[in-house]
Amino acid sequence: MERTLIILKPDCVSRRLVGRIIRRFEDKGLTIAGMKLMRISRELAERHYAGHAGKPFYAGLIDYITSGPVVVMVLAGPGAIAVCRKLMGATFGPQAEPGTIRGDFGLSRTFNLVHGSDGPESAAAEIALYFGPGELMDVPMPDAAWINRPDEA
Ligand code: UDP
Ligand code: MG
Repeated sequence: MERTLIILKPDCVSRRLVGRIIRRFEDKGLTIAGMKLMRISRELAERHYAGHAGKPFYAGLIDYITSGPVVVMVLAGPGAIAVCRKLMGATFGPQAEPGTIRGDFGLSRTFNLVHGSDGPESAAAEIALYFGPGELMDVPMPDAAWINRPDEA
């Protein structure tokens, strides 16, 4: 089953939106394979966002993601990476569609509540940054037969 890394960013935790945002992912049928509350160090933030180093928003992004506790999760499901990106919505709050997390909960271009891996390679690399193999669960869910048909592509 495909896995993706999701981070509920410091604004999400500080605004007490954790439960409501996790609910959106669970409602869709994704499974929580790993989850923890943590404070991201500057070193870890710089590794995570290495691809953005040098961009005008980079320093502010590092300040933001290290500014308070975050909830880091691995979510699993068919097409989990793209499905989560759809649930999150466009990067900037003002442009994100209503019905998406960023569209419903924020107006900022920086404080956009949630991070989600953008492809299979980044998902694998990001999951390895935050979780050891022993921290991830592969528990069969009792509703799995109704979440997707095994013969579906
Ligand atoms: N960001 C920002 N200003 C920008 C672009 C991005 O503050 O002009 C922040 C924002 O928090 C975003 C993160 O940097 O979520 C990573 O940017 P990316 O383009 O990867 O967006 P995402 O993949 O999170 O949608
Ligand atoms: Mg990104």
